Amino acid sequence: MKGNIKEITKEIVKNEKILLVGHILPDGDDVSSLTSMKLGLEKLGKKVSAVIDDDIPEYLLQFPTIKASIESFKDVENNIYQNFDLMIILDSSSPDRVGRFEKYLNSFRVLLIDHHVTNTHFGNINWVDPTMGSTAQMVYRILKDFNIDYDNELANMNLLGIATDTGFFKYQNAGSTVFRDAADLIEKGANISYIANTILDNTPLEHILLYKDILNELKITSEGRIAYSLLTLGMLAKYNILPKDSPSFVENIRSIRNVEIAIVFQEYKENLYHVSLRSKKWADVSKIALKYGGGGHPRAAGFSIQTRNIEKSIKEIVEDISKYLRESIGDLTF
Ligand code: 5GP
Ligand code: MN
Repeated sequence: MKGNIKEITKEIVKNEKILLVGHILPDGDDVSSLTSMKLGLEKLGKKVSAVIDDDIPEYLLQFPTIKASIESFKDVENNIYQNFDLMIILDSSSPDRVGRFEKYLNSFRVLLIDHHVTNTHFGNINWVDPTMGSTAQMVYRILKDFNIDYDNELANMNLLGIATDTGFFKYQNAGSTVFRDAADLIEKGANISYIANTILDNTPLEHILLYKDILNELKITSEGRIAYSLLTLGMLAKYNILPKDSPSFVENIRSIRNVEIAIVFQEYKENLYHVSLRSKKWADVSKIALKYGGGGHPRAAGFSIQTRNIEKSIKEIVEDISKYLRESIGDLTF
């Protein structure tokens, strides 16, 4: 069923015990959406748990409110039917993104709130709006509709996802409504420099050292339009970095002049790789990710692969993406 914000707020009014579910490999937008939705709905008197079936990266646990707010699968799986009467899924474009919560999708009434263009509308009510810069911005619209009284911490938690998903207000998805909603949150007490300092100016030294090794693996092809690199478990182990805490550096690689598509192949379990895709100006990487069973946005997307021969898989995928670039460049007028 197709939905909009009104249908979402109507359902929230009707239910008291709400389970908020985020996605595996969580990012800033996801944890921000969950945390701010939880704090906001609690101000309405709801009983709310916010859960993600995956570990939260260390850079996001730097925010004590995130650490205190988000629970794991095992925290809620007992008596899940008695404890909750509504499931709200945030920032997740397909059912596999919610991890082990996928098996409960048919037993709960499910509201889906998301901004991915690749969303498969797997909830009972789906408010999916790809014009929104982040899911956190959609959460802001919901809490605004309820006239929630923001305190500083709620404002910070809500602004965090709006900031991270727009690359701190510089990507193409940073339209005027992003700045208006962000300005509202700053008026309500959010502190953008606190958020930026905690995320951007707080890099563990090991991550910078790892970057050297990623640059050693860097390759550039397709007349300089594609740059890619590999990050293995062995490279992470050298610096004692856990896979869940690993930076991908895909955005650093995209910043190279003339590069249109950046790719990082990141091993997260033996023989399992997450492929992060970024484009700079025009290539639609969400289409590439969809083809490989993943999803995302035009400028940021991803998918996972299982392979025993990563060099061969990289060669095939990069060739495929080069072909896509050659074919689509013909349709473009700059
Ligand atoms: P990242 O490269 O940072 O992991 O992901 C970039 C974007 O693509 C995010 O919006 C993320 O939600 C989406 N994405 C990444 N991997 C997958 C995947 O395996 N499946 C889906 N549906 N989306 C993904
Ligand atoms: Mn998002």
